[in-house]
Amino acid sequence: MKMLIGGKHVDAKGGTTFENRNPFDGTLICTVPNGTGEDFEAAAVIAKEAQKEWAKTPIYIRARILMNFVGLVRRDFDKIVDVVVAEGGKAITEARAELDTLCVVFESFVQAASQMLGNSVPVDSEARTVGDMIFTIREPIGTFVTITPFNFPVELYAHKVAPALVTGNAVIIKPASDTPLSAYMLTELLWEAGVPGGVAQLVTGSGSAIGKWLGETSLVDGVTFTGSTEVGKKLMLGGAAHLQHVFLELGGNDPYVVFDSADMDVAVSQAIGGRTWNAGQTCCANKRFIIQNTIKEEFTARLVEGLKACKVGNPAEDDTVVGPLVSEKNAQRVIDQINATVAEGAKVLLGGKRCGTVVEPTVLADVTPDMAVAKDMEIFGPVFPIIGFDTFDEAVAIANQTSYGLASGVITNDINTAMKFAKAVEAGTCVVNSSGNYRSVHQPFGGIKATGIGREGTSQTLYEMTQEKSIVLKNVLA
Ligand code: NAP
Repeated sequence: MKMLIGGKHVDAKGGTTFENRNPFDGTLICTVPNGTGEDFEAAAVIAKEAQKEWAKTPIYIRARILMNFVGLVRRDFDKIVDVVVAEGGKAITEARAELDTLCVVFESFVQAASQMLGNSVPVDSEARTVGDMIFTIREPIGTFVTITPFNFPVELYAHKVAPALVTGNAVIIKPASDTPLSAYMLTELLWEAGVPGGVAQLVTGSGSAIGKWLGETSLVDGVTFTGSTEVGKKLMLGGAAHLQHVFLELGGNDPYVVFDSADMDVAVSQAIGGRTWNAGQTCCANKRFIIQNTIKEEFTARLVEGLKACKVGNPAEDDTVVGPLVSEKNAQRVIDQINATVAEGAKVLLGGKRCGTVVEPTVLADVTPDMAVAKDMEIFGPVFPIIGFDTFDEAVAIANQTSYGLASGVITNDINTAMKFAKAVEAGTCVVNSSGNYRSVHQPFGGIKATGIGREGTSQTLYEMTQEKSIVLKNVLA
């Protein structure tokens, strides 16, 4: 593949590439240009000029172009799905669902953008402004760099690129190095749909190269990032030099709390569904299973039975539930985290091993609140650490004893318990009677504490990616 800069397909200026391989069977998918700061700078110079014209393009035309894009994605749907499966190892049914979501996200942002209203400001609240009229309009911020992780290469592309483009910003897209090809195909389709070649560009290369460049350039106005907390902090620091607008969607170690008033079928099926999705590599997956001691044994036994029935392996097969992790390095990290938890005193009831990049669904019993996994150790794999509790206050204390705060799930048929928990939990979302692994395009999605800054969704991102200008008509009402 090439990079997409200024309407052209180009190699990295340094001429080097890296390989992208299928994580399940190791086959070579493509070679990827290894862009560096000078490639990003070249794209940013082009974006600066192109954005000015794009901002002048009426919103109904921008909207029409983006709807053309959705039509082209539908045309190439199966080809893109195959790439999502091959490059990231995502189970094919999930890849189809994710690409469907991309279409919904684009359509929703297009619709919502036409409803973005400005404000009018009361002017008779102070003597010196009586007779004036003040109203506001929203304008694009300029050039955004969008940085996405490997785990949802097309859905997260949509959450960043759609609102940026429809509001008149230019985007420089930097996909994860493990999953660059789907983003490349989508960006080519943006061009085919009518987005100018300088308004949507794709530059590939290592994250550290773009991080260094972002800290130095004055050509970027905003950065929208989804990924780890560690990298998010670096971007915030780098962005300070030129006061970039920095939006951060970061890691999570989300609690899933089951009270003894729960429907056990719901508790078990939601636990499995939420944690096995994308083989556990989901930011808002339930990652700590906090179960009332009176039902812990029954929950654990049924969880183990349910997981034994999940097909594990080839992501290209329709009935596969748990595919591989994105790389051998990530799979080994999960095994190391399981072993570290066992060394602290946990017991493996199921799984605990890997075959290449495929990690077996793993249930860890006897996990106590003082262990790393019960606090800040985010495991990005299909692992179920079970932590017991007796009282409501204890459940809340364990749920909140993490630096993160993305999503949470609470399972109970008692609405008072559910609402009390939803109010007490420190998280951006609380889902009642389901896993916190839940996202609607219209929901303000994001986290508190070390999970980041900002919210995504139709009610939020369009405002974050635009700035409000006040226009004052002096003495017009006098
Ligand atoms: P990551 O290592 O932070 O990488 C994410 C992206 O950042 C990749 O494109 C990566 O490029 C790039 N990157 C790496 N170092 C960089 C730097 N110094 N400056 C700028 N960009 C840099 O995260 P990951 O391990 O792929 O993703 C998993 C994490 O993302 C988990 O913590 C998960 O919870 C979080 N996540 C959060 C959300 C949310 O909505 N809150 C959603 C999904 C995932 P390379 O690939 O080239 O290294």
